[in-house]
Formats: sequence, C-alpha cells, structure tokens
Amino acid sequence: MSKVKNAYKEIEDIIGTDFITDKDFMKAAYSRNVDPAFPDRWADMIVRPESTEEVSEIVKIANKYKITIVPRGGGADLVGGSVSEGGILMDLTRMNNIIEINETDFYCVVECGITWGALVSELHQRGLTTGVLGPGSGYSATIGGGLSNSTAGAGSTKYGLVPDICLGVEVVLCNPEGTILQTGAAANKYAKPFCRYGVAPDFTGLFMGDVGTMGIKTKAYLKLFPLQPYRKSINFMLNKNDWNKVTELTHKLQTEVKDGLNSLAILPHTVFKMLSQMAKERPKQRLRIRGSAFGISLEASDERILEIYEEKVKEIMLKDDVCRIFKYQEIDASIEERQENEIILKNIFHYFNKYIGIMPGMISLTTCHKVPISFIPEGAEAAAQFDAKYRLEFPEKAISLWATVIYVLPNGHCVFVGGLTAFNRDDQRKIAMDMWHKKLRAQVRYGGAHYWLGESISQSIVEAGAYTPEFAQFFKDMKKAVDPNFLLSPKKFHMYTYEDDISKHLVEDEPYR
Ligand SMILES: Cc1cc2nc3c(=O)[nH]c(=O)nc-3n(C[C@H](O)[C@H](O)[C@H](O)COP(=O)(O)OP(=O)(O)OC[C@H]3O[C@@H](n4cnc5c(N)ncnc54)[C@H](O)[C@@H]3O)c2cc1C
Repeated sequence: MSKVKNAYKEIEDIIGTDFITDKDFMKAAYSRNVDPAFPDRWADMIVRPESTEEVSEIVKIANKYKITIVPRGGGADLVGGSVSEGGILMDLTRMNNIIEINETDFYCVVECGITWGALVSELHQRGLTTGVLGPGSGYSATIGGGLSNSTAGAGSTKYGLVPDICLGVEVVLCNPEGTILQTGAAANKYAKPFCRYGVAPDFTGLFMGDVGTMGIKTKAYLKLFPLQPYRKSINFMLNKNDWNKVTELTHKLQTEVKDGLNSLAILPHTVFKMLSQMAKERPKQRLRIRGSAFGISLEASDERILEIYEEKVKEIMLKDDVCRIFKYQEIDASIEERQENEIILKNIFHYFNKYIGIMPGMISLTTCHKVPISFIPEGAEAAAQFDAKYRLEFPEKAISLWATVIYVLPNGHCVFVGGLTAFNRDDQRKIAMDMWHKKLRAQVRYGGAHYWLGESISQSIVEAGAYTPEFAQFFKDMKKAVDPNFLLSPKKFHMYTYEDDISKHLVEDEPYR
C-alpha cells in the first residue's frame, strides 16, 4: 500500500469513515478558495476532526508518513491559502463549540472552527461583542481563519485586527509528537485564559497571521467588550478630490473622537463615481461627486455621549465647508436607509459586493495592504504611476484599483483594500498571476504591510526581498522548531525545504515609478 493509503486507513480509524474522504467530487469541492486565478488543487484526502486530540493524532500520522497538511476554516481565502496540492486538507469546521463566555471577566473560549456568524450572534444576544466582527467575506469565515490571516473587518477602526482581540490559543504543533500547547495566561496551567502577556514571551504572536504555517489552532481565547447600544452612521462627501485633506481629517477624527469611532471608511473619488454609475435606481437629480466619501460609524454607551461624538464629528468635517453630509440614496434611491442603532449583519455580509466586488464576473487579484495614514497621498500617486508604467502588461481589459475603500485602523494606519481584476479565463490566468505578484512586490517596496498572506502575497513579499538574511534565517529556525519535517502549509513564503535559500526568489530591477 502507498503511504497515502496507509495514512488514510490510520486516520479513518481515529476520526471515523464519515469524516475522511478521497472521493473526487469532494476533492474538487475543496480544490479552491475564492481565488480563481489559481489552478484547482486537489488534496489526497480531506479530513474533518472533531477534537484537539484527533488533530494531534492526525498530525502524528502525517509525520510518520511525511505527508503535508494544510489547515482550512471557512475557505474564504483570496490568495491561495487554504487549498492543498496533494497531502491532507484539514477542515476544522466541526470544531465549532463555544466553550465559555465569561461575562464578568470579558473573555470567551471557542473552538477555532466556529464561524463569526455563530459566535457574534450568541454574543450580541448577551450584550457582548468581540469588537471586530470578522472579515468582509461574511459570517461563514472562522475564528481560526481570522487569527491566521490577521483579519481586519467591521469594527477594526476601534478594536484593531482579529489578533488584537486574541488572549492566547490552544495549538497543535506539526511535530512527530503532535504536541498540544496553550499560550497567553493559559500557559500557566493554574490560570484562566483571561490575559495574553505575563507568563512567558508572547508565543501567541508566533501563530497570529501565520497563514497556517506554524501550527494548527484548535481553540482561541478572545477578549470581549460590552456591546455599545447607541450607534449612528453619518456620511460626508469632500467638496474636492484632495488626499492631503483625507489624511488631515482622518488624523483629526482619530485624535478627537477616538473611542467613539467604531468604523471609518473612505470611499475614493473614482470608486464613488463608479458606484453612482452602477445605481439600480438613479435619483432624478444627479449628485455631483466632487471628492471622496467618508463613512463614519459611531458608538457609545450612553445617548448623551453619542450626541457629543456626533457634534464633534460634524465640527471637524464641516469646518470651512470642506465637506457636506450626504446619504447614499442621493446616488441610488434603492439603497436602504439604516436605522440609527442597528447593526445589520446582512449589510456587513454584503459590503464586499457593494464596495469591493466592483466588477462582477471578473476574478479579483486582491492587494489589500496597510500603510500609515500620512502615506495616503503618496500611495495614491505610487499606484497611479505603477499602473501607467505597466499598463501594457496587464491582463486584457483589466481594471486596477489601488483602493476600492480605505479602511482606517487604530493608531494612525489604514488599509488600502484594492486589487486588480482579470477575466476568469485560462489564457488570462498566467498574465494575471504575474501582474498580481509584480503589483504586490511594488507595494512591499513602498513599505506596505499586507495581512492575509496565503500563497501569492507571502511569496511576493519574499520576491520583493523584504526580509534581511537574518530575519529569513530566524523565520526558518522558528518554523523548524514547530514543524521539523516541513509538513505544514508548504509553498507559502516560497519555503519548500529548510535547506533552500529563499533569497533565490528575489526579483530585482523592478522600479514601480
Ligand atoms: C468577498 C471577500 C471579502 C473578504 N474580506 C476580508 C476582510 O474584510 N478582511 C480580511 O481580513 N479578509 C477578508 N477576506 C479574506 C478572508 O475571507 C478572511 O481573511 C477570513 O478571515 C478567512 O477565514 P476563513 O475561515 O475562511 O479561512 P480559510 O480561508 O479557511 O483560511 C485562511 C488561512 O488560514 C489558515 N487557517 C485557517 N484555519 C486555521 C487554523 N485553525 N489553524 C491554522 N491555520 C488556519 C489557512 O491555512 C489559510 O492560510 C475576504 C474574502 C472574500 C472572498
């Protein structure tokens, strides 16, 4: 029997016939994420463990037969992260229990395969929240995926990225022993998982944003916050297309309204115009779109505090006639008005369709990355220069948007949520993939920091030469300590073996302006 067949049999004995498969139709169903620029990739088997102990046993078998493993949550990755060419694809969504919600000490313990939908719905009923509510891909993405992709989402302006609410994890290391360990306060076997720092170095960080390369996260300990009952959203339109003004106003809002700001999103002028052209129901009097739009969501524990926040926001935004308040109905009468204190899960789910999936029917090669807010004007310029320089190499009729939306994060930085589109056709796929990597390398070289790294982005970071030799060696040494046989998520970061020198993937001489 081949090693794959042997491993299959042994895993089947552990998790049962119903939770392992090598049937073609299942392998096909798991062969993609939301990233059609990649070819389909078929794993040798798909396994669906139910407990940490089962994960550990599977890891031991994988080590025995030297078979690779890729962990998978909701499979909503955009960059080749949770598919596997051969080997074991480990679907963690059966591990979906809420183990503890501690309302007094504001933390919860969940299994990593639970979806944001299940967790947030339960918490909101109890007047609690995780603050950041998961990614724009929707509520079927998992907590494990969010931690592994350093996800930003609704609420991130105030509460930060998903790793920022993480107090520790239970993780299975991909070593022959299938070691199970806890990080954060939970590393103290006498302690509850109520805080992240203080027991040992911050080993939680090793597993955050690792795109499943450092371990398989099975449980997460997450911060909770009281759900703020008073909310209000206000939209402003700039009277001029001026990026310096965008930076200035963003900084002011962060300085003066800080805790009241749940979300701050800026819709660039071009995207705003595109949205208005795509309106389902055009109002009779068409709005003249002069500048970018600010979407501001405020939250507070008390109505009076909310009023103060609102007043402050208006004072900042309306000073010197820089902006005016507007409603989206002014560009599309079919857009529903949101009630003031409502969180509409459906809207959070669909925000991508509205602001990001701006070209339906195409594949999007996402290039979302973080920059300091002071870089916004220069970033817009650098992106335009890149597009002008390489326009002829773009896939057919591609549309490149450096930012379909700029989403503000805490402490003076923001995300450029953008990308490139291409036709979902075989003859366009390689051209699209090459241009995608080139664009990502340019962003790395102007100092951007991406977050969901998967395969295409993690490889582009290496190709751009971001890592010093010392850092690359440290990274490999750390990985070797937790995955000695190099079985977990191969290919990411252009790592294929520990002997390889990743600097050979460097792409030089590539000016982006
Ligand atoms: C329309 C759309 C909108 C999106 N919007 C956002 C957004 O606003 N913000 C954002 O950050 N992302 C966004 N994404 C990307 C992605 O959906 C998110 O990053 C999401 O958090 C991934 O979660 P998932 O459970 O689907 O993970 P998966 O796709 O299953 O996995 C993601 C990565 O994490 C690893 N992984 C998953 N679970 C584990 C685990 N338990 N242990 C170890 N490794 C694991 C996988 O190997 C993979 O590398 C979007 C995607 C789409 C399609």
